[in-house]
Amino acid sequence: MSPDEFRRHGHQVIDWIADYWSSLADRPVLSQVAPGDVRAAVPSSPPASGESFDAVLADLDTVVLPGITHWQHPRFFAYFPANSAPAAVLADLVSSGLGAQGMIWSTSPAATELEQVVLDWFAELLDLGSAFRNADGVGGGVIQDTASTATMTALLAALHRASGGTARDVGVQDGRRYAVYASSQAHSSLVKAAMMTGIGEHNVRLIDVDPESQAMLPEALEAAVRADVEAGIIPTMVLSAVGTTSTGAVDPTRAIAQIATMHGIWLHVDAAWAGVAAICPEHRDVLDGVAEYADSLVVNPHKWLLTTFDCSTFWVRDRSALTGALSILPEYLRNAATESGEVVDYRDWHPQLGRRFRALKLWSVFRTYGVEGLRAHIRSGVTLAQRFEELVQADPRFSLVVPRSLGLVTFAVGDDELTMAVMDEVNRSGTAYLTHTKVNGRAAMRLAVGGVWTQPEDVDTTWQAIQTATDSLLGGRAVRE
Ligand code: PLP
Repeated sequence: MSPDEFRRHGHQVIDWIADYWSSLADRPVLSQVAPGDVRAAVPSSPPASGESFDAVLADLDTVVLPGITHWQHPRFFAYFPANSAPAAVLADLVSSGLGAQGMIWSTSPAATELEQVVLDWFAELLDLGSAFRNADGVGGGVIQDTASTATMTALLAALHRASGGTARDVGVQDGRRYAVYASSQAHSSLVKAAMMTGIGEHNVRLIDVDPESQAMLPEALEAAVRADVEAGIIPTMVLSAVGTTSTGAVDPTRAIAQIATMHGIWLHVDAAWAGVAAICPEHRDVLDGVAEYADSLVVNPHKWLLTTFDCSTFWVRDRSALTGALSILPEYLRNAATESGEVVDYRDWHPQLGRRFRALKLWSVFRTYGVEGLRAHIRSGVTLAQRFEELVQADPRFSLVVPRSLGLVTFAVGDDELTMAVMDEVNRSGTAYLTHTKVNGRAAMRLAVGGVWTQPEDVDTTWQAIQTATDSLLGGRAVRE
């Protein structure tokens, strides 16, 4: 494809995406295909000679779209949002067009330096103080692909520190036992990180939560740490979950930090979803204690902050903990800039070497929305969730299972069977898409607001669909608790 052909097809692709976004509200949110349908629509071998891009474009409608669950749909309320603002999509396209690989400063200085500046902007917006700022050269931020990778990276640094900063094969081979701690509600990525680092699943302590708030009980954490110390196991990292996946619970980071400090444990804060809310002064409390105490923090702009997947921002208080654990310099990567010590090479800040120019999309979002626009987006998600919460509270058949957390409402109708049946019916109808969880052993639906295109009428339409499903499933009977 020549540059001129690219121009022509590029216009077609942008038109296609714009038409797709305009038509979202009329599509069923959840893909309706059966397993194997998409595979069956695609030839089992590649074409022998090249086809035109027009043929690829045509198949997007017939082959791909039916198998898409529309994450950008205004009534996608499942999981957490993965919102994708037009400004981020355009910048991501530019990143692909540049095709620059920013593994070290010298392979594209702009990829590193723009990332450093944008992460400093973001740290300022989150009110993190100076400890995590790239510009100061001690701590710093980096974009990772996902929060799961960021948490594993934090654990690698924590292990390096816990092992005395010498062993680079800790956990698996040094014969000692290391333990990590998080609430029973923390995301499974921590357990996975423990599995991958060789700490092992059996050395993850899942700490009890308060049944009302679903937040970690610091006294239970303290007891678990003491038991490990007595058994000769090394407490290595504690994760404070700020906005749990199930209910949006926020752990008491400040109280957890006291225990971590007393025992010299790395404190990692997983604020993958809720952290972005701290850009609004009225929601700053979610990150209470982070600026003073956290060793590392992860927040996902690819969830609620408009930046198309993947973009997970990760900060550390002490960058040498990362480079100490991860730095490796083969001959073919040696260069004058690295040796001058004046540049940062992000290859040392995460497990992989190669990296995309992801800062472009975050930069584009920050610049086109501005601070006020970003805050307006977060506030609109919270306001719409409040609207839904009021609808739930006004119907005596429904109950909030836990208090609303920012843009997440967790609720039930009658017993577990009815709750699940109502959710399945709404999802099957295509009107909206919700997911479920269990809270204190009881089934609940989750409605997570935060999409780019979601309007008040989308919340109302979804509530209407929930009511219709409930009425039809009850058939005039009263709800059973
Ligand atoms: N942490 C929390 C609190 C989450 O809710 C999620 C995903 O929903 C993750 C971590 C994992 O995020 P990622 O997909 O970026 O690895």
